[in-house]
Amino acid sequence: MSPGRGTLDPSRTVAELKELRALTGDANGAQRVAFTDTWVAGRRWLRGKLDALPVEVHDDAAGNTWATLRGASERALLIGGHMDSVPNGGWLDGCLNVMAGVEILRRISAQYDGKPPVTVRLVDWADEEGARFGKSLFGSSACAGFLDVAEARGLKDKDGLALPDVLRQHGIDLERAQESGKELENAAAYIELHIEQGPVLLDLDLPLGTVLGTFGVERHAITFRGQAAHSGSTPMNRRRDAFLAAGRMGEEVYRITGKHGGVSTIGSCTTKPGIVTSVVEECRITLDQRHLDAAGLASLFADARAASERFAAEAKVEVAWDRIWNIEPVHFDPHLLRLCDESIQETCGKLHRLPSGPLHDAAEVARAGVPTVMMFVQSLHGISHNKIEDTREEHLQLCVAAFDRLAEKAMAWVATKA
Ligand SMILES: [Zn+2]
Repeated sequence: MSPGRGTLDPSRTVAELKELRALTGDANGAQRVAFTDTWVAGRRWLRGKLDALPVEVHDDAAGNTWATLRGASERALLIGGHMDSVPNGGWLDGCLNVMAGVEILRRISAQYDGKPPVTVRLVDWADEEGARFGKSLFGSSACAGFLDVAEARGLKDKDGLALPDVLRQHGIDLERAQESGKELENAAAYIELHIEQGPVLLDLDLPLGTVLGTFGVERHAITFRGQAAHSGSTPMNRRRDAFLAAGRMGEEVYRITGKHGGVSTIGSCTTKPGIVTSVVEECRITLDQRHLDAAGLASLFADARAASERFAAEAKVEVAWDRIWNIEPVHFDPHLLRLCDESIQETCGKLHRLPSGPLHDAAEVARAGVPTVMMFVQSLHGISHNKIEDTREEHLQLCVAAFDRLAEKAMAWVATKA
């Protein structure tokens, strides 16, 4: 049975995702790393799907692909996703959003005879993952005006190829990438669907969730410096042991995070001289702290810093903090949050709001001042960036249906602002 005119067909999205997986994946998972041949092949396949629709398609100055269905008003609803994946990635991360968007464009163009009340645009962001050059959100940050061009100039992949050269091979001039910003001129709302990539919805046994925003991040290297000394001849009370202080941070960040919320991770620990017969002279750990609330993030940071100084004094060592990176929390639009809640409620009857730990293109668009919201669909195993990433097929169909409702509600909202 084929659905009627102007009817959404979520099963087609699932079939197309499988088609894309067969075309651009292998036994180890999705292989659409941005600015590689497989990514280009995936995008060419996407173009083929868009060709059947009354949309105008072009790539912008940052390599983002835009498919525009012109409406009665220039004011635009944007639907976003990314075709690129990490190496050996999951089959849904990023492309689920794009393919749901294609199906929604089909539904809208059929329902409104190719001329909806407002303009609807699907964007496939270039290099969301940053897998090759180590810098994520390339296309969306350029579009939003937050790309650090000076830093991007110096980025190289593992073969030593420079980002500006690789971009040029794909028709992108890094120096002009931020001209992509003009695409946001008439943007009145931005919506993005994504697989959760964590276990929250799975543990609550819920298919869908409304995303409140993306965590702010404080990322630091913390270096404790003591004195190397012979492990046999140095009495315990005469040591200046950098590892003693660093090690105590391990449990302390759990305590601090328990108090303030958010998440904290000590992701790496290196010691010098790093031999079995010496007290540790220098111990460097990295700390990644994330919180949806700026004050919460500031408390996580302040408490961890105070603890490190206390432990350093007790171990008679020194401590220094170096910021690696930070970003403010991004809160999504309150009205779009309500529309997302309604869409989920109407589709599956159960509602949950959650923050996003990972960053997404949506955060850049929101920072550019466009009202934004994201919807999450449950991730089986709670795992992403891995070939085992999966979502139950019924949940995939549910999320396309709910996301389509959100698109319709957001379009009506944009129309009131036109
Ligand atoms: Zn993604």
